[in-house]
Amino acid sequence: MSIEVIDDQFMVCTDCLMIIANDDATGLDYSLSEEEAAEREREIREAIAEVQRTEGQIAVGDSDMDDEFSASPCACCGTRLAGQRHHCVILAKR
Ligand SMILES: [Zn+2]
Repeated sequence: MSIEVIDDQFMVCTDCLMIIANDDATGLDYSLSEEEAAEREREIREAIAEVQRTEGQIAVGDSDMDDEFSASPCACCGTRLAGQRHHCVILAKR
C-alpha cells in the first residue's frame, strides 16, 4: 500500500487549518460569539468529514506555498471571505 497525493493544491482558510493541523477550534472564539463559533466549528468539521469521505485524508502541506492573501474560496469549508490560504494536500490510500 502506498500513499498518493491526489490533490497538491488544497488551499484552506485559517479556521480550517487550525482544525486540520491541531484539531483545535478554540481560535474561532476570537472574533465570534460562543454560539457562532460552535456553528462555524460544526460547519468546518462537516466539510472536513465530507472531503475525507469522498476524496481522502487532508494533510498540512508546505507553508512556503501558503497564499498571503486570496479571494478564492476555501477548498474545505468554502468560505469566500478573502484572506490567508494555507497549503494542504489530499492523500489517498491505494
Ligand atoms: Zn475553510
